[in-house]
Amino acid sequence: MIPVPAPALQPVPPAPPARWQQLWRDAIRDPAQLLALLDLPELAGRLSPEAMAGFPLRVPRGFVDRMRRGDPHDPLLRQVLPLDDEDRPAPGFGLDAVGDLAASGGTGVIHKYRGRVLLVATGSCAIHCRYCFRRHYPYAEQTAAAAGWREALDYLATDTSVSEVLLSGGDPLSLSTAKLAEFTRALAGLPHVRRLRLHTRLPVVLPERVDEELLAWLAGLPWPVVVVIHANHGNEVDASVAAAVSRLRATGAQVLNQAVLLRGVNDSLPALADLSERLFAAGALPYYLHQLDRVAGTAHFEVTDDQARSLHEALAAQLPGYLVPRLVREVAGAPAKTPL
Ligand SMILES: *Cc1c(COP(=O)(O)O)cnc(C)c1O
Ligand code: SF4
Repeated sequence: MIPVPAPALQPVPPAPPARWQQLWRDAIRDPAQLLALLDLPELAGRLSPEAMAGFPLRVPRGFVDRMRRGDPHDPLLRQVLPLDDEDRPAPGFGLDAVGDLAASGGTGVIHKYRGRVLLVATGSCAIHCRYCFRRHYPYAEQTAAAAGWREALDYLATDTSVSEVLLSGGDPLSLSTAKLAEFTRALAGLPHVRRLRLHTRLPVVLPERVDEELLAWLAGLPWPVVVVIHANHGNEVDASVAAAVSRLRATGAQVLNQAVLLRGVNDSLPALADLSERLFAAGALPYYLHQLDRVAGTAHFEVTDDQARSLHEALAAQLPGYLVPRLVREVAGAPAKTPL
């Protein structure tokens, strides 16, 4: 008998990469190249091969353009350069500082707070921030998109107390818009979900990500949307970022910012005030100012609680209330972010 051939699968031709995806791939990954671009050869001796092996350098060229040439203390450079400071062991700085692994509700699902579930949508980011509390997170096996969103959707369908879904990561906007739409189409079938939130640094570090396709997806979603962007210093918020924020707002989304208080980056009153002013001018309101999570390799970024409180008080004495972010810390097991 002649076997009947199975109907041929029509391979879907892959879509050509979007412009943001090309820029993404074009990110700088070689520290020597970064230091050459910035005229800072003298920093080469302070690079840490160990830090780089654990969490490699990655920074989009557009973000590098906002750094000052010849300034070894540039606040944007400090956020991305893997220096030997990271190699010094520091007591109290561990691998899972915020209890994420304990709060997992399945692949890529973190349910810590009432009514809100955070999905680690993907582990990828366009930029690698040295202070990041997720630099030690076991992403490869723990992301919701990699699991086809199935476990996340099952969890969300079962727990009807969940009214808000947060897409986080990694950076959820590092996924293609088609992949995000696949998720929200399925999510729309769950009547108890009332809000969608995105936590993303991409509108700041690669504003080209906010393209027509993304905007069309956002504008078509059935829920109010909150986009929490992440800038730590006013110099990050240039005209390209302001344009991205206003395009996001034009879809009806609320845009908020979260920052991390970082020694040598934004631990001064002028830096924090300027960040709030530039965010507001761009159309984003300051939401949280986080005390650093104590993860291994980040101790040199830590600001003491006393200093954090006095900076925050000084900021409140200078700016209108709506430009003062809440100063908080993440405490494992707490029911919300904890005010300092
Ligand atoms: C920070 C966080 C949230 C959101 O907290 P809000 O105070 O609502 O911004 C939700 N889930 C997890 C796991 C978080 O870490
Ligand atoms: S998760 Fe956010 S803070 Fe961490 S590396 Fe990615 S973009 Fe940076």
